[in-house]
Amino acid sequence: MADIQTIASSIARGEKTARAWVEEALARAEESKEYNALLSLTRDRALERADAVDKGEVTGRLAGVPFVVKDNFLAFGAPSTAASKMLEHFDAPLQATAVEKLEAEGAICIGKANLDAFAHGGSTENSAFGVTHNAIDSERVAGGSSGGSAVVTALDVVPFALGTDTGGSIRQPASFNGVYGIKPTYGAVSRYGVVAMASSTDTIGCFARTAEDTAFIMSIMAGRDVRDMTTIPDVDMAIKPLVRPLKIGIIKETMTDDVATDVRQAIGDYTDKLRAAGHTVDEVSLPMSRYALAIYYIIVPAEISSNLARYDGIRYGTRAAGVKTLAELYGRSRDEGFVTENKRRIMIGSYVLSSGYFDAYYQQAQKARTLLIREYDALLEQYDILISPTAPTTAFKIGENADDPVKMYLADIMTVPPSLAGLPAVNVPVGHDTSGLPIGLQLIGQRRADALLLSLAAQMEADRG
Ligand code: GLN
Repeated sequence: MADIQTIASSIARGEKTARAWVEEALARAEESKEYNALLSLTRDRALERADAVDKGEVTGRLAGVPFVVKDNFLAFGAPSTAASKMLEHFDAPLQATAVEKLEAEGAICIGKANLDAFAHGGSTENSAFGVTHNAIDSERVAGGSSGGSAVVTALDVVPFALGTDTGGSIRQPASFNGVYGIKPTYGAVSRYGVVAMASSTDTIGCFARTAEDTAFIMSIMAGRDVRDMTTIPDVDMAIKPLVRPLKIGIIKETMTDDVATDVRQAIGDYTDKLRAAGHTVDEVSLPMSRYALAIYYIIVPAEISSNLARYDGIRYGTRAAGVKTLAELYGRSRDEGFVTENKRRIMIGSYVLSSGYFDAYYQQAQKARTLLIREYDALLEQYDILISPTAPTTAFKIGENADDPVKMYLADIMTVPPSLAGLPAVNVPVGHDTSGLPIGLQLIGQRRADALLLSLAAQMEADRG
């Protein structure tokens, strides 16, 4: 499938109908079924909207352009499940602001992508509806939690797909499947209508195959929303020519022997290209990053335990049958509706928030988080952009880390630190390892520097030819 501009202009010029593009995307989705990247197709609604575009009733900069949403966005046309039994039959009463904004420009959602249930995970193995397979090697994981969205973008089912990123869920699967993925500045895109995971680091972003397409979609979704009080006004997402060489810092803690040799090699090669393009690249240090996973896996479960309290079998979701007491109704409904990883996080979160341990864990983690933020701010006063690998390895085998949560959490070691600081970060596909698996590089910037990251990615893409 072509890029966004090509699709939109072919429809605008009458060279190809919106219906033909949407039918093509639906057919590609059917052909890629064995990847289990999509939980549902929104065929009827998509074709109806395509016909409305073809009749001139729906217009806009994305008129007729098909896309996929991660299934934790509330969106019409099929249930919004968050890949959980809890919401298996939940029909959204409204649509997420991000989806509404894309639809207002004429974009057409054709399906809903698989994820780790409630976005808890880094491999899409925690979905209640089966694992998603990597687009390049189907014995390997898609990454996660937005694995389905990354795979449909890499397989060319659609030109772009939406995801959420709380600690890496867009960037890491983008890296594992060789596509662009952006987690914007915290608050740049409204979270309204998206299933909450950890409210202080949840962000909305997208996957695409070019820097240009990524920037275009983000510029449409960004903006203040009165229904999400954490949104900030007008974060610039537009690519511009870089008028001066940039000062770039490569974070030395992310280039240790623990990182796969091929990954370090690819990051090194890209660094050479950055220098050849006139930028300076220095080694920099972010000492607090060694505590980032510990901080994240206290604060995020704490917020999860609070956000997931609403799924009680009464207000939302699955209600266990044949129960006799209220306690049993809550307990059984939550037991049936959540996967193991959801339960693990609810328990850790409740523990670190409990009155006896709040000071020892949650409070300490918040203090350490502040120190990490200060280190970033100091570095980003001297440097325009920081770089690191997006993940310490390429995509791992399905099942390889599934029994060991700590090993799985290590896959987030590169992406979690910028999330804790609310910084924008982009995965740029930069090469392949010796077995042909994609390698990603992470660009990190100061809050609101999203456009700068995308502009550098675009410049390097153009230089690549
Ligand atoms: N893999 C990370 C986690 O499990 C990130 C998840 C996310 O960003 N939604 O928490």
